[in-house]
Amino acid sequence: MSITIALSKGRIYEETLPLLAAAGITVAEDPEKSRKLIFPTNQPDVRVVLVRASDVPVYVQYGGADLGVSGLDSLIEHGGQGLYQPLDLQIAQCRVSVAVRADFDYEAAVQQGGRLKIATKYTTIAREFFAQKGVHVDMVKLYGSMELAPLTGMADAIVDLVSTGSTLKANNLVEVERIMDISSRLVVNQAALKLKQQRLRPIIDAFAGAIGKD
Ligand code: AMP
Repeated sequence: MSITIALSKGRIYEETLPLLAAAGITVAEDPEKSRKLIFPTNQPDVRVVLVRASDVPVYVQYGGADLGVSGLDSLIEHGGQGLYQPLDLQIAQCRVSVAVRADFDYEAAVQQGGRLKIATKYTTIAREFFAQKGVHVDMVKLYGSMELAPLTGMADAIVDLVSTGSTLKANNLVEVERIMDISSRLVVNQAALKLKQQRLRPIIDAFAGAIGKD
């Protein structure tokens, strides 16, 4: 009964390593220096798979992985079906914000009944946010480099993750509204939680202990 853990490269992987260590799990090889997708660990029955951040909830939902670490942004866009979400790990913290070109009058555009062209990967988050404000949005779905959309005139605004704000600044965009704070969550396949309870529980408990929630 082996355990597969789904992670994504970058901040989530790096900030999950200490939590895995708390569960006695160390990854045998540095994934940042490899093109492999499956990584063995020091535990013969535990392996790590590396997938795109937005695919982590999908792998866990369909049992391609038993557990994973997913940003709240990816989790909301996915919908959370079939996932048990026991812990806010408080890692990879950032926010989802609205940003526009410095010369764009956002306040005027979002007057009640206004209309806005939004480019984003986070269509669910953006749609709900602007619906609550009573602003009509035309949504352009993108998969990356959202900053380019207002600069090329393809959109009035973007909805994207912001951490330090330096990416926006480098592209002459200004953050005009913070939609929500984001952190990463532990997600567990609901069937695996029952069938592999004995092996998964100690890992979940070790993660909880490492973040001071035991
Ligand atoms: P920053 O320049 O520090 O504001 O970071 C913004 C860029 O990094 C954007 O392209 C974001 O999509 C990405 N980013 C920021 N925080 C995260 C995170 N926690 N997880 C994934 N991507 C992030």
